[in-house]
Amino acid sequence: MTEFAERVQRVKPSFTLEMTSRAAELRAQGVDVINFSAGQPDFNTPENIREAAKTAMDNGETKYTAGSGTIELRQAVCTKLKRENQLEVSPERVLISNGEKQSLYLACQTLFQSGDEVLIFKPYWVSFPEFVTLSDATPILIDTDSKNNFEPDFENLKSKITDKVKGIIINSPSNPTGSVWSDEIIINLLGLAKENSWTVISDECYERLVFEGEFTSAQKLSDDHHIGANIITCMSMSKTYAMTGWRIGYAFGEKSIIKAMGKIQGQATSCANAIGQAASVEALIGDQSTVEMMIGKFRERRDLMVSLLNELPGITCDTPGGAFYAFPDFSAYIGKSFRGEKIDDSFVLSDVILNEAKVVTVPGDGFGAPGHIRFSYPLAKNVIREGILRVKKVLEQLN
Ligand code: GLU
Repeated sequence: MTEFAERVQRVKPSFTLEMTSRAAELRAQGVDVINFSAGQPDFNTPENIREAAKTAMDNGETKYTAGSGTIELRQAVCTKLKRENQLEVSPERVLISNGEKQSLYLACQTLFQSGDEVLIFKPYWVSFPEFVTLSDATPILIDTDSKNNFEPDFENLKSKITDKVKGIIINSPSNPTGSVWSDEIIINLLGLAKENSWTVISDECYERLVFEGEFTSAQKLSDDHHIGANIITCMSMSKTYAMTGWRIGYAFGEKSIIKAMGKIQGQATSCANAIGQAASVEALIGDQSTVEMMIGKFRERRDLMVSLLNELPGITCDTPGGAFYAFPDFSAYIGKSFRGEKIDDSFVLSDVILNEAKVVTVPGDGFGAPGHIRFSYPLAKNVIREGILRVKKVLEQLN
C-alpha cells in the first residue's frame, strides 16, 4: 500500500464539491434530484461570452499564454476594476488563475508557512482552513454573531491575536451565510491588519451579487480611509458571469506578492486555460446586461427561498444581503430521530434529507456552523418550491 504524504491526512475533502458530486452521481442514475448544494447559477454562460470562446478557438488562441495571464485579460481586469470598483490597478499587479480558488490557494502558499497563524471567521467557506493547512500554517477560527448578520465578534478576535498571526481572510458577501458586512466592519478589520502587519486576503467572489446597497471593495475602503493595509483581493468570473466550469479567476495586490504567486502558478499549472481567458475578456468588457438580468432573478429567488424556509416549523432564516446562499438554522431538529436513527448533527440531517427527499444541501458543520444547513438557490422558482416541499415532508417524519 502506497504511503501518502502527511498533508493528505491533514487536509479535509471539500464538502461543497463532495455534495455536488453526490448530486451528479444520483442524477446520472436517473434519480430526480434537486440540487441546492453547488454554488453555481443555473443559467448558461451568456451568448456573447460563448461566441468569444468559439472565435478564440477558430483563431488558434489554443496555446499556452503568459504564465500570469494574457495581457488582454489582465488589461480587461484593470478596466473592470476602474469601471466597477473605482480602483486604479496596473496589469503587472494582476494574476489570472484557474479559478479564483487557485488564486486564494496561491496567496496562502506565498504568504504563510509553518509556525504562522491565519485568522478565519466562522462560518467559513470550507476551503479557507484547508488552504491555510496546506501552507503548513494554522487556521485560527474567530466567532461571529449568528443573530446579528454573522458580524465578527471583535472581542473574540482580539483575544486570539498573537505575534504568530500573519494574515486574515475575509469574505463579504459571505459563502455560506450570504451576509454582507458593513463598510465600518471592514474598515475596522483593515485597521487591525495594518496595526499588526497582517496581510489581508479578501475573497470578493460575490462582489456583484449584492441585493441592497452598494458593495465597496476592501482595497477601495483601505485607499479612501488612508489605511494602507496590505491586501490581496481575489475575484471570480464564475458567479457573476455563470462561468463556474470555465475556471477563470484573478487576484490583484502588491506587485511582489502577485509575482511570487505567479512563480508558484507557473510551476503548478503553467497558465490558466487560454480559451477561457479569451472569453473572459469579452465577459469583462462586453455587454453587461445579462449580468443585471441574472442578479434580478437571484434576488427574486432569494426572497422566495427565505420565505419558504421561514414557513418550515422551527426554522429561522435571515434574509441574506448577497451571494446566492440561504443559511437557515435547523438546530430545532438536531437531537431528534428519523426512523430510529438519531440526528446527531447537520451532517446526519443533510444525509437524511438527501436519502429521503433526494434534495442535496451542504451541512453547516462543514462550514464550522453546527445546526445550520446551506441552500444554494440560483435555481428556477418551481424547483425551489418543490425542493422545500420535499424537505418539509422529511421534517414532519422526525420525532
Ligand atoms: N464555491 C462554490 C461552493 O461553495 C463551489 C464549490 C467549491 O469549489 O467549493 O459551492
